[in-house]
Amino acid sequence: MKQPHNIYIHVPFCMSKCNYCAFWSIACANPDWKTYLAGILAELDYWGRTLGRVSVPTVFFGGGTPSLMPVDCFFQIMNKIRTCFDLSADAEITLESNPGTLDENKMREFQAAGVNRLSIGVQSLDDEKLKFLGRRHDAATAIAAIKTAQKLNLNVSADFIYGLPGDNVATVIETCAAINKLGLTHCSMYELTIEENTPFGRANLNMPTNEEMADMYTAIRQNLSLPRYEVSNYATPGHECRHNQNIWDGDAYIGIGRGAAGRVYIDGTWYEQRGAGELFEPLSSTDRAIECVITGLRTIRGVCLTDPVKAVINMDIVQSMPDKIRIVNDRLVATDMGMLVLDDLIEQVTR
Ligand code: SF4
Repeated sequence: MKQPHNIYIHVPFCMSKCNYCAFWSIACANPDWKTYLAGILAELDYWGRTLGRVSVPTVFFGGGTPSLMPVDCFFQIMNKIRTCFDLSADAEITLESNPGTLDENKMREFQAAGVNRLSIGVQSLDDEKLKFLGRRHDAATAIAAIKTAQKLNLNVSADFIYGLPGDNVATVIETCAAINKLGLTHCSMYELTIEENTPFGRANLNMPTNEEMADMYTAIRQNLSLPRYEVSNYATPGHECRHNQNIWDGDAYIGIGRGAAGRVYIDGTWYEQRGAGELFEPLSSTDRAIECVITGLRTIRGVCLTDPVKAVINMDIVQSMPDKIRIVNDRLVATDMGMLVLDDLIEQVTR
């Protein structure tokens, strides 16, 4: 049987750029959706021809701000996916959205066209912090978007950012208490990272220290009512993001759109693939196994110790750090302490 492929569609447009954002996105109030759509449909056609009618368990529209997209554009993309691939009957179809870009009517239309999971970029429940981040919405608008999506029975996730200048364990505990009241089944908590070539990168901000960030991270795990299932992601069991979980588990995915990347599997070989065209290069089995370790260790279920993974792991080093990494049921799993230093840990355990 052919390997299933998840699909990621990049929608690069935003109303304006947020102060921290280094994502590949374009501030454009009136995008040329026709040209964008034609490019996406052509790429889907290409991958349909190249991979054959593989099954597609998840589709993720990420951005940018995909909720700006006209529903008809979304509809045509989904139709093309159904034509080129075998879209699973229970496929998870996620749309990333920003509060203020999606009223109840448009949400209903997206839902009727196939969206069953809405990821909402809330970022903060404090209006001052939202302004500081350069967000266009206030907290009330974000909460209203969550409530509307919940009313429509969509699977709802919300993204938040912590570790802003002035944040500390006490403010993070307060934030967690406010998030707990929203009745979410999934949320993502991202530490603010300062990227070059962004307004924040040029601003010389008085950021919390690494130790303070680590304390806030621990406080989130202790105070959020949702259990953590990945470094930055929390969900009630059964509400994990299937798309991301599949990718962290090392499954194949096609990246469609200029800012997208993928990992496709053709005739026994893994390829690194970039969106906006037909570029793909083979990955050695070592490179692919290391990628699986990097993504798998981000999740609490860890990475399966397959032969290629075993070949890139230094077991002596693993066994010397039981406080940070362990073998549980033939999987390699980072402990809570290991999660705090994950990048260093991965470097240490891979050969
Ligand atoms: S909405 Fe998201 S992608 Fe767009 S500028 Fe803000 S952070 Fe970046």
